[in-house]
Amino acid sequence: MYKSGRHFLQIPGPSNVPDRVLRAMDFPTMDHRGPDFADIGKKALEGMKSIFKTEQDVVIFPSSGTGAWEAALVNTLSAGDRVLMYETGHFATLWQALAKRLGLQPEFIPSDWRSGADPEKIEAYLRADKNHEIKAVCVVHNETSTGSVTQVKEVRDAIDSAGHPALLMVDSISGLASIDFQFDAWGVDVAVSGSQKGLMLPPGLSFNAISAKARAASAKATLPKSYWAWDEMKGPNEKGYFPYTPATNLLYGLNVAIDMLHEEGLDAVFARHARHGEATRQAVRTWGLDILCSDPRHYSNVLTTVVMPTGSSADAFRKTTLDNFDMSLGSGLSKVSDRVFRIGHLGHFNDLMLMATLSGVEMGLKLASVPHNRGGAQAAMDYLTNSERPTEAIA
Ligand code: PLP
Repeated sequence: MYKSGRHFLQIPGPSNVPDRVLRAMDFPTMDHRGPDFADIGKKALEGMKSIFKTEQDVVIFPSSGTGAWEAALVNTLSAGDRVLMYETGHFATLWQALAKRLGLQPEFIPSDWRSGADPEKIEAYLRADKNHEIKAVCVVHNETSTGSVTQVKEVRDAIDSAGHPALLMVDSISGLASIDFQFDAWGVDVAVSGSQKGLMLPPGLSFNAISAKARAASAKATLPKSYWAWDEMKGPNEKGYFPYTPATNLLYGLNVAIDMLHEEGLDAVFARHARHGEATRQAVRTWGLDILCSDPRHYSNVLTTVVMPTGSSADAFRKTTLDNFDMSLGSGLSKVSDRVFRIGHLGHFNDLMLMATLSGVEMGLKLASVPHNRGGAQAAMDYLTNSERPTEAIA
């Protein structure tokens, strides 16, 4: 059925794609082995290094984020290797299941899905591994199913304090380009990301950033790999090409998205997300509803997960906002299905988009007869009016 006006895509990814990126992709697909492609490939690979904040290698796959999860594991590990993972939520659980299917032995530190990974627990686990049998520690930076952030630098410090040689692998699929991520400074060995969140692109590209230590581990790793093999990428990438057909038009878009992030300035991008995260949390508190993340140090500025009052269905509420206001909100996944909904405030986003989103949520709560206090959208508006806007447009 025809609906006038723009759909509000307020799930925590895929996020809204800016018109400038859509226009950049709206060009004829070119010969990916021809002379003109090399500059595009090189720009994308170099540009992604600046987003990961690394001088080390980045590879780009034509896949969703799940492919880059698999690539991180198959390139660095061998059958039966023990890996330490942390149950921050649905996505950490899926990565763990993937590791198991690959023939690894994931050991999963349990959690209540209400915070990021606890570095102290990781340190204690690693200290107990006297023979250094654990080959990798894998954490999710921004757990998109819960809205909790793991402090990656604290995990690095925990590994170092334990004097443990395990690789540190980080899923920053929904963190990268929305909240700070520092591959080199934080000592990450493999980072995993995807195109459809902070990078403001449609789904279809995924990324690994690779440390020298991970590269060395890949020389000895024996899990089978072909499509995901990093060493197949190396030679062609050095000249700006790929070993197979890349997602040409997504790469046109990626180069423009990277330009936009630098035009705004990464710090301004992070400050914008922080401001929208805080405004959203103030709205939720005014409604008298709970934020799923219970530790303020781990609040996500990418999304906010709201717990429904007992007896109210999150899915019925989301249907109300979709039917009445043409707005998609994120659903509760697996363990928290129908109990929570997620408000995405990431990527190509501004104050008025947030206000429309929160107004839609508040109207939806009323229409769906969800018990709440009025005034959440007003509280967010007051916060946005009174807090300083981050400096934008540096160049
Ligand atoms: N990890 C996180 C944190 C995610 O948010 C997602 C998807 O939303 C994934 C992994 C899986 O990525 P994809 O669905 O692109 O395969």
